[in-house]
This record gives sequence, structure tokens and C-alpha cells, in this order.
Amino acid sequence: MSVLRAMMRESLRGLNLALYLHRVAEAHRPTDRVPGLTIKGSSLDVVLGELSALASITQTTVTFDDGYKDAADYVDTRAPRFSSLRFLFNVCPQKAEQRAGFRWDLHEHLRGTGGHAPDNVDQFLWENADVANENAREELKGLADREPFRLATVDEVKALARHSNVSLGNHSNCHFPLCRLNDEDLQRELESSKRDFERHFGPMRHFAFPFGFPGVHFGRREITLLRNLGAERIWSTKESPYASQWQTPGAVLPRVQLLGTWSVKHMLLWITQRATVYRFRRARRVEHGDFPL
Ligand SMILES: [Zn+2]
Repeated sequence: MSVLRAMMRESLRGLNLALYLHRVAEAHRPTDRVPGLTIKGSSLDVVLGELSALASITQTTVTFDDGYKDAADYVDTRAPRFSSLRFLFNVCPQKAEQRAGFRWDLHEHLRGTGGHAPDNVDQFLWENADVANENAREELKGLADREPFRLATVDEVKALARHSNVSLGNHSNCHFPLCRLNDEDLQRELESSKRDFERHFGPMRHFAFPFGFPGVHFGRREITLLRNLGAERIWSTKESPYASQWQTPGAVLPRVQLLGTWSVKHMLLWITQRATVYRFRRARRVEHGDFPL
């Protein structure tokens, strides 16, 4: 552990690190198709303790996407404990307000209750995408209030912002892969989610792309629109730390994902590996313009 700690310190020195997380629970759900997206709070505490110890040489932001209640509870209790770290809670504002769950949770619910859950999950997450009516669908309604799929309410999300080291971000209203929407639907989705976000939570400074992999789930068109809407930080799921100079207005920034199926050592090694690769590649890179996605 002491060797790993030393390696992590050297690799992260002077860099910014954003972690990319979803849900927090001590036990995995037996019906969960992607158990890596749920992390144990006790494991994450150890990782954040290690990163807190590096606060003088690296700035860490702990980001959670999708707005689950278990993640909100974690942020609420840990923001004061890890006061040298920043937290960012990215929420789908219309889902929080209308209590409409996610399609992947509907799929898990159908499987768990003997309903018809199609084998092709990717298609299930995307088919018949209708940005105007997605969150009014009967099957999704109320799912956000049902265990184990509970999303934080608007008031619970708002309450997080009382911590000085917690920010809130927009994660779109419908959580569709934005690249696959036509121009009109994309504009509607981004504008309406910004409007809904700001009605509840104040100015939209942060936006986190749904799914978020560059070239697969978003591209230039999406970045340009978000910059025109005034987003100051746009978060992807490209896995890397980044130097401070990439934090320009409207910057698209990378985040390092930690999987809940890993041990704590595996998580710390992964952060170290990503930081080492970043340093190695940076030697051959001219740093200006956008972060190389
Ligand atoms: Zn998401």
C-alpha cells in the first residue's frame, strides 16, 4: 500500500482528477445487470481518504451521474468529512421532478417481476426515443419512487448545494445518447433540460453527457450547442486526469471511472495508471484548445 501511495502521489502531482460514479450501496442487487456501477460507500471512503491526503498537490472532484438517492445521501454525509474535495451531483431535472425512472431500471424491474424484458438492452435504452414524452411514459412514472431505483427528489438535490464544496450539474432530461437525436430533438432536449434545471437549481454551470463517450455519444454539434447555452464545464467519460490549463470556459473534461466490483487497491492503481498515461502522452502534446478527446 505504501508503494502504491507513493506511485499515486507522483503520478497525480499538479493534475486535476475527476472521478465518475453512479450509485452507492454496501451490497449489490442480484438483478443488477451492471454491478460495477454501484460502489460500496466504505470502499469509496478509503479512496477519498487517500485523495484528501493529496489535496495540496492534486484537485479532486467526485462526480455522480443520474441523481440516485443513495448517491445523494453519500454526498450529503461525505462532503463535510472530505472538505478538501469537490463534489458534483449531475441530475436529470425532469426525472427528479416528474418521478420518472430510467429505462435501464425499467428493464431490471421487468426482469425482476417476470415481465417482458428484451434481450437487446442497448436497443431498449434507445428505441422510440421521444424527447417530448419520454418522462410521461406510464412504465417510467413512479419508478423513481420505488426501491431499489429511487432518485433524489428536487428538494433532496437542492439540499446538497448547501455544502460549499458541492455543485449541481445538468444530465439532460431523458438520458438518450445525444448523438442519435436529430437537430431539432437535440436542441429541444438541451434547451428544455437547461430550463428545468435552472428553475430548480440555479444557473447551469455544469453539464454531464449521458453515457458520455466522445465520438460515440456526443460530438462537435453537441459541444457547440452546450457552449451556446452557457455551460462552463462539460463532462465526458473519457478516462483521464487533466492539467489545470484545460479548464477554459466551456471545456469538455475527462473523468476516471471507478467500478464497484474492484478492490480499493485496484481503484487506486487505475487512477495511478490513468495519470501515468496522461503524463507520458502529454510530453508529445501541445496544450491549447480543447482537451484531446
Ligand atoms: Zn447517466
